[in-house]
Amino acid sequence: MEQDELEKLRGLLVERRLALLAEGDLKADPNRSHASTIPDEDEQPLNEMNQVISSRRNRLRKEEIAGIEAALGRMKADPEDFGLCQDCEEPIPKGRLEVMPWALYCVGCQSKRSGPKYGGRRRHAGDFDD
Ligand SMILES: [Zn+2]
Repeated sequence: MEQDELEKLRGLLVERRLALLAEGDLKADPNRSHASTIPDEDEQPLNEMNQVISSRRNRLRKEEIAGIEAALGRMKADPEDFGLCQDCEEPIPKGRLEVMPWALYCVGCQSKRSGPKYGGRRRHAGDFDD
């Protein structure tokens, strides 16, 4: 991969990692997210739901940070091969890398893979926006 493209992706990775680290673990704190509402018994199911959502988000966040750090490591160890699909060794399209700089596989190989490995079939960049 060319140096300037690599630098750009490195910037995206570092920025994303900083944002994730700054976010911190979500605490399912109703006083923070519903500051203007008066707590009452009706909030209990909502709190439990928030807790589930928070732990899911925290898990995704940790996985994403791990993926970003792995990508930064690969970038450093083997900059020339960064951005090549780990399976077919074809370059992963730039558009995909700009959305997911930590992607290990091209779309075709990714869709052939299943299982819980990072970047598995249920993982999409959009998951982080919910
Ligand atoms: Zn591939």
